[in-house]
Amino acid sequence: MANDPVSDQDERPDPQVGEPEHAAVGLPGVYWSMKYAMNEMGPKRSLQTLLKMNHIDGFDCPSCAWPDPDRRKAAEFCENGAKAVAWEATRKRVDRDFFAEHSIKDLLAHDDHWLEHQGRLTEPMYLPAGATHYEPIAWEDAFRLVADRLRAMPSPDRAIFYTSGRASNEAAFVYQLLARKLGTNNMPDCSNMCHESSGTALTQTLGVGKGTVTYDDIAYQSRLILIAGQNPGTNHPRMLTALEDAKKRGAKIVSINPLPEAGLVKFRNPQTPRGISGVGTKIADKHLSVRLGGDQALFAGLNKLLVERGAIDADFIARHTDGFEVAAEAWAALEWPQIEALSGISRAEIEALADDVEAHDRVIVCWAMGLTQHKNSVPTIREVASFLLLRGNIGRPGAGAAPIRGHSNVQGDRTMGIWEKMPDSFLDAIRDEFGFEPPREHGFDSVKAVGAMRDGKADVFLALGGNFPVAISDTEVATEAMSRVGLTVGIQTKLNRSHLHTGREALILPCLGRTERDVTAAGDQFVTVEDSMSMVHSSRGRLIPGSPHLKSEVQIICGIADALWGSTPELDWKTLSTDYATIRKHIEHVVPGFHAFEERVKHPGGFQLPNGARDSLSFETETGKARITANPLETLEVPAGHLLLQTLRSHDQFNTTIYGYDDRYRGIKQGRNVVFVNPEDITALGLADGQRVDLVSVTDDGRERRLPGLRVVSYPTTAGCAATYYPEANVLVPLDSVASESNTPTSKSIVVRLEPASA
Ligand code: SF4
Repeated sequence: MANDPVSDQDERPDPQVGEPEHAAVGLPGVYWSMKYAMNEMGPKRSLQTLLKMNHIDGFDCPSCAWPDPDRRKAAEFCENGAKAVAWEATRKRVDRDFFAEHSIKDLLAHDDHWLEHQGRLTEPMYLPAGATHYEPIAWEDAFRLVADRLRAMPSPDRAIFYTSGRASNEAAFVYQLLARKLGTNNMPDCSNMCHESSGTALTQTLGVGKGTVTYDDIAYQSRLILIAGQNPGTNHPRMLTALEDAKKRGAKIVSINPLPEAGLVKFRNPQTPRGISGVGTKIADKHLSVRLGGDQALFAGLNKLLVERGAIDADFIARHTDGFEVAAEAWAALEWPQIEALSGISRAEIEALADDVEAHDRVIVCWAMGLTQHKNSVPTIREVASFLLLRGNIGRPGAGAAPIRGHSNVQGDRTMGIWEKMPDSFLDAIRDEFGFEPPREHGFDSVKAVGAMRDGKADVFLALGGNFPVAISDTEVATEAMSRVGLTVGIQTKLNRSHLHTGREALILPCLGRTERDVTAAGDQFVTVEDSMSMVHSSRGRLIPGSPHLKSEVQIICGIADALWGSTPELDWKTLSTDYATIRKHIEHVVPGFHAFEERVKHPGGFQLPNGARDSLSFETETGKARITANPLETLEVPAGHLLLQTLRSHDQFNTTIYGYDDRYRGIKQGRNVVFVNPEDITALGLADGQRVDLVSVTDDGRERRLPGLRVVSYPTTAGCAATYYPEANVLVPLDSVASESNTPTSKSIVVRLEPASA
C-alpha cells in the first residue's frame, strides 16, 4: 500500500491495472479508513468524529443513506463513511489568500480531486462580473446582493433553487419556503439524477414514492434478496453487515448486475474474527450478468413464468391489486428469444431464478442507479413492483421494495418539499401555515434547469450543496449554460468545479458541515435527516467549526430571505435561523407524518414515517389498489461495432467527490482514465487490453461527444456492455437523453464507439 492516493498531485497519466478483488472490506478497509482519517484530520479529530458517527447522540454520516441498526457498534461506519468525514473535517483551509493566489483560470486546470482536496472554505467569497479572482465579501453584503438580484428579476421563474441530498430537513424546508415565497417551483435536486425513476414508478404502482422495507426486514426477516443494479460494497458498505446477518439466517442472495462486484462476492467484516481472518462471508449465491437496461426483460420473464406456473398469491392479488388480467395476457404474449436478447440472461437462468422465488416466501428487491438511469427505467421498476405484488411480497415482514438512496438526506429533502411538482395538498398546507399563496405551476427539474439556463431563461441559480454542472449530464452544454446566468450562488463546505463554471457573477457561501457544532443565540442546534428506510433521526455535530466565519445552511437561507423581505410574525426568518425547533414546528403542521416531531425525534434512533403500502396495504394510487402492470419491452438499438456504456463510481469516490485515484476492488490504482470492456468485445472490435481509446457517443442531435484517452481494461462485464467513471463520462450523455416519465439522464446506457486514441 505504498502509493498515497490522497497526495496533492493532479491526474496521473497511466493507471496501474491488476486483478479485480473477490472480497470487500477486510483489514484493507480498516487501513484505508484510518489512512484518510489520519491524513486529513489527525488523531484527535478522528477520535472526536469517527466514534460519534451514526450514533444516537452523534451526527449522521454525510455520505449515503443506509439506515442505522438498532444495536450500534462502537465503530458504526464504513471506509467510505470515514473518507466522507475525513474529507469534511480536514484541517486544510481554502481562505482569502488561496483565492488571491489562484485565478479561476488556474483552478480550472486542476482536476476534481485536487480542487476539493485543498480544504474547507472559510468565508464568503464574491466573483464580480469580469473578474479573474474571487474576493472576500461580508455576509450581510452577500445576502443583500442575492436579494437585490432576485428582486430585480422580471419573473420569479427566472430563479433556480438546486438542492443536493446532503441538506438537512430543516435547511430543505426553509429553502423550499424561500423559493415558494418568491413565487417559483424551480427546485431541481440530485434525486432527479438518481432515484426519480423509482419515485415515479412506485408512486404509480404502490401509491408511495419510497421503499417499503426496514433494516430489520433485510437483516433479520427476508428469505430471498435480489440486488439489482446496485454495488453496496462501494456505495452502501454497511449494507454488507445486514446481508451477512441475512446469510447467517440462511437467506439466499442473488446479484443482478453487468459487473461481478467484490462486495456481492464476499464480505470480510473487520468487526468479526471470521472477517479479520480473511475467511469472510459469501454474499451472493448467484450472479446474473444482465445487459445494461435488461432488467425490465428479466423481471418480465420472471413474471411470465410465475403466472404460467400459477406460483402467485391469488388472494392477495384479488384483495389488494388491480390490472392482473391485462398484465398476465401481455406476459403470456412475450417471446423468450426477445426476453433473452434484451436481458442478456438465458431462459434456463430465469427459470432457475423463478424456482428460487417459488422456494422463498419473503422476497425483497434492492436496487440503485443500475435500474434508474435508463430510458426504460420507469417501466422496469413497475415490472419489479408487479413481480413483488404477484406473490404478495409487499406489506409483510421480510418482503418488499428497497430502492437504496445514495445521498444521506436525499429522501428527506423530497419529503420537505424539494420537488418541482409538489402535490396541491402540500402547497395548500404551506398557504394555510404561512399565509401566502405558493405557485402551482410545476417548475424545472435538473435537466430542464440546464435547458432554461442554456436558453437564457435564468437570472439567478442557487445551489444548496452539490456540484451541479459536473453532476448533471452533457457537461459541455451544462457548463456553458451556467455562464449564461446572471448570478450563481454556491452554499457548500468545499471548493469544487461548480465554483469555476459560474454565472456572470458568483458567490461562494461556505456552510457548516455535519461534523461541526451549530451554536446560535438559542444554544446548540441539531438537525434531522431521513434515511432510505424512512427513519427520521437527529444529527448533532461535535467539532468546533472549521472557521469562525461559517454559517449553517439554515442561517444562510434565512439570511437571504430576511434581506429580501425582512421577518414578520407569519414568517420570522430571524427566529427560524436561530431556533430550529421553530422550523420543526412548522414541519409538524405542513408535512404528513411529523406529528409531535420535536418529542419523537428525541427518542433514541428517532421515528419512522408512515408508509401505507408497508404498514397497512393501503395504496394511494389512482384506483386505491396496488397496480400490477406489464410494460412493453423497449429495445435500445446498438449498431454493429458499438457498445453500451454505463457510468459508475470508483471505490475512492462519492458522487462527484473524488477522494483518491484507486478503485481497488476492480484492480485499478492511481488513475481514472480507464474503460472496462468484455474480452470478447475487445477482440471483436480489433482492440487490445491496455490500448488507449477515445469514447465517442452516438446521438440523435448529430453532435459529437468525445471522452479521450482511456485505457482499455479487459473486464468480466456483460458482453456488449462497457463501463467507465463519472463525472468524466457525463460529457458523453446528451441533455435530452433521459428516462421516459422521470426525465433522469440515461447515464447507465450510452451507445458509444471506441476509437483508437486521437492524441
Ligand atoms: S454505509 Fe453509507 S451511511 Fe453508513 S457509514 Fe458508510 S457511507 Fe456512511
